[in-house]
Amino acid sequence: MTRLATAKWWTSTESTAVRCELCPRHCIIPDGHCGYCAVRQNRGGELFSLAYGRPVSLAIDPIEKKPLAQFLPGSKTFSFGTFGCNLGCVFCQNDSLSRGAYADDELETWIPPEQIVELALQHHCPSISYTYNEPTVFAEYLCDIARLAHSAGMKNILVSNGYIADDAADDLYPLIDATNIDMKGFSQSFYDKMCQASLDPVLHSLEKLRLLGVHLEVTTLVIPGKNDDLEEISTWLDWVDALLGRETPLHFSAYHPAYHCRIPRTPATTLYAIRDLAISRGFPNVFLGNI
Ligand code: SF4
Ligand code: SF4
Repeated sequence: MTRLATAKWWTSTESTAVRCELCPRHCIIPDGHCGYCAVRQNRGGELFSLAYGRPVSLAIDPIEKKPLAQFLPGSKTFSFGTFGCNLGCVFCQNDSLSRGAYADDELETWIPPEQIVELALQHHCPSISYTYNEPTVFAEYLCDIARLAHSAGMKNILVSNGYIADDAADDLYPLIDATNIDMKGFSQSFYDKMCQASLDPVLHSLEKLRLLGVHLEVTTLVIPGKNDDLEEISTWLDWVDALLGRETPLHFSAYHPAYHCRIPRTPATTLYAIRDLAISRGFPNVFLGNI
C-alpha cells in the first residue's frame, strides 16, 4: 500500500492548482503535477510530500564531512537525504539526488520518523544530519524526525542552501542545533545564472539562524571565473562581519566539473588566496575543502 504524507505550507487557488509556500519559488502546481523540486505533488487539489518516509541515501559520516568544524568535533552523524532540490545549480555535485524523482515502486518504501531515530541510536550517533539533497524539500519529514531526535537527546544538523520561505523557516529552524548553509555565490547575477534562484532569501536565512542562536557555519564551492573574485569575496566578508560575526566558520571548497558545468576544477592556489584574504581581514575560522 502506498502511503503519502500531506504537505504543510501550501494554499489552494481558485482552480484545482495549489500554491506551495515552502520555499521562495512559490510554485503554482496543477493537479497531477509536481513543483520545481519534483517531490511535492498536487493530487486532486491537495499537496503531498513524496519524499516523506522515503530517504534514498543513508550513511554514517564524520561530522567534519558536513562540513562542520566546530560542532561535536570528532563525532559521527547519522546522515540521510531524499530526492529533490529547489535550486537548479548547473554545477550540482550531487545531481543524482537533486534531480532525481520518485518512481511508483519507490513510493512503496516507507521509513517512518521513529525508525530513523532508532537507526541513529543503534549506531551510537549523537546527531542526525539532514543532508545530501536539499532538506527544505522534505521539511515535513525533517520536522517530525527532529522533534523525536530531541526527545531522544540527539542533536539535529541541517546542511542546506538556505532557500526557504520565512514561515516555514520559523517552524523548522528552531528544531535545528547546528547548520552549514551553502553560500553559492555573492551576487544576484550568480544565483540567477548558475542556480535559477535569488540571493536575498539565502541572506535572510543566514540572519535568521544567527538571531536564533543556531550554531552556524557557511560553505562556498569556489568555481573558477564565477565566484572567485577577491573583491567580491571581500564585500561578502564585510557582510559576514556586520551580520553574522567574524568568528563564523567559513569553508571554501574546490569545485570539480559536474552536471552541466565543464569549467576545469578549482586550483588550490585560488583557495589559498581566499584564505589569505579572509585571515588578513581578521576572520579566524577559515577552512579549505576538497584540495
Ligand atoms: S518546495 Fe518545491 S514545490 Fe514548493 S515552492 Fe519550493 S520548489 Fe516549488
Ligand atoms: S542546492 Fe545543492 S543539491 Fe541543490 S542543485 Fe544546488 S548544488 Fe545541487
